[in-house]
Amino acid sequence: MCGSGSTTRLEVTIQPHQQIRGKCSQCLQAAPGYDRLAQRRWLFVPLWHLPTYFYYAPRRVNCPEHGVGVEHIPWSQGKRPLCTAMMDFLARWARRLSWRETARAFGTSWEGVYRSVQWFVEWGLAQRQLTSVWSIGIDEIHWGPGKKAANFLTVIYQIDRHCRRLLWVGPRRTQASLRRGLNALGQEVVAGLRFVCTDMWKPYLKVVAQRAGQALHVLDRFHITRHLNQALDQVRRAETARLQGQASAQRLKKMRWKLLRRGRRVRGRAKAKLRRLVFSKLATGRAWILKESFEHFWTYRSLVWAQAFLDYWCERALRSRLEPMKKVARMLRKHEELLLNWFRAKGEISSGVVEGLNNKIRVVTRRSYGFRTYRAMEVALYHNLGKLPEPVLTHRFC
Ligand SMILES: [Zn+2]
Repeated sequence: MCGSGSTTRLEVTIQPHQQIRGKCSQCLQAAPGYDRLAQRRWLFVPLWHLPTYFYYAPRRVNCPEHGVGVEHIPWSQGKRPLCTAMMDFLARWARRLSWRETARAFGTSWEGVYRSVQWFVEWGLAQRQLTSVWSIGIDEIHWGPGKKAANFLTVIYQIDRHCRRLLWVGPRRTQASLRRGLNALGQEVVAGLRFVCTDMWKPYLKVVAQRAGQALHVLDRFHITRHLNQALDQVRRAETARLQGQASAQRLKKMRWKLLRRGRRVRGRAKAKLRRLVFSKLATGRAWILKESFEHFWTYRSLVWAQAFLDYWCERALRSRLEPMKKVARMLRKHEELLLNWFRAKGEISSGVVEGLNNKIRVVTRRSYGFRTYRAMEVALYHNLGKLPEPVLTHRFC
């Protein structure tokens, strides 16, 4: 033990056993000694809340097969200044606390926590088995300030009932990003897919058709609802501007969230106000009826009836004289086949999974991890959502 007050720390000096030879770090076979390197130190898990260091001068061995190299050191990973046990300890805490809090609580730096999580994740990714991946969801996620191309991520989730996790994340949302993601999963996984779920983002549609043509390609329900809501909001905004100063403008005041919620969920006084708006013959009311009636589409069991409903709905929307709604109708018509695949999938895909995983990603990206780089965020996402296998140590400290 050395130091005093807040700088007190435990120092553990380690000596090699005189009768036991060092092991080659590649084949783990005992090998004749070669020479000894200068003493290094490693940060261990704090004991009695004291920073604890290992001191050791590593030997170099001369392996008949692998030549001269540093011996295998059981608590060390390459040149990292933290013991394996400490990295494991920090990585596990980094899932419960922010990285900065973890660093502060256990007397290390943000960088130390980042390197530990990185090691943990790399180990997990290398050990991960991608068997029985039948359904994936692909989506784009916005990240950071601004709407530049670099502020989007492409994510691939596994959305099977038995396993829901983040499989891959990469920068941008281009065809190339998705191709890189599918390559990372491997040809065997992609060829074995049964369901792929995406939104109507063109680069993704193209790549999925090329690479996973055997899978049933389904469009995401929540994305379609979002398109409808955006169109409705455009109608409302345009009408608000048009009616400025007139008495009927009152009807549109403070209606945004009431309009965008699912109709069934609007209650009480808000509901009465919504009803008055709908009966007022305003464009916003008509757009709301269109949006709301589309919900019915998802309740069909029969493909034929669903198709008939879609036809009827699009017809109505196209005659509505509401340009944003017409645009949605044209888009739905264009992707009719993929929309109807929802019914061909016969409930195999639950609609909320991709949305749920997206929300979890937002929790991670928004939490104050103090990510300085894209790479750090990527590591945090795998760490929290990847369900990766974890290293097993002889002793766990948390
Ligand atoms: Zn060797």
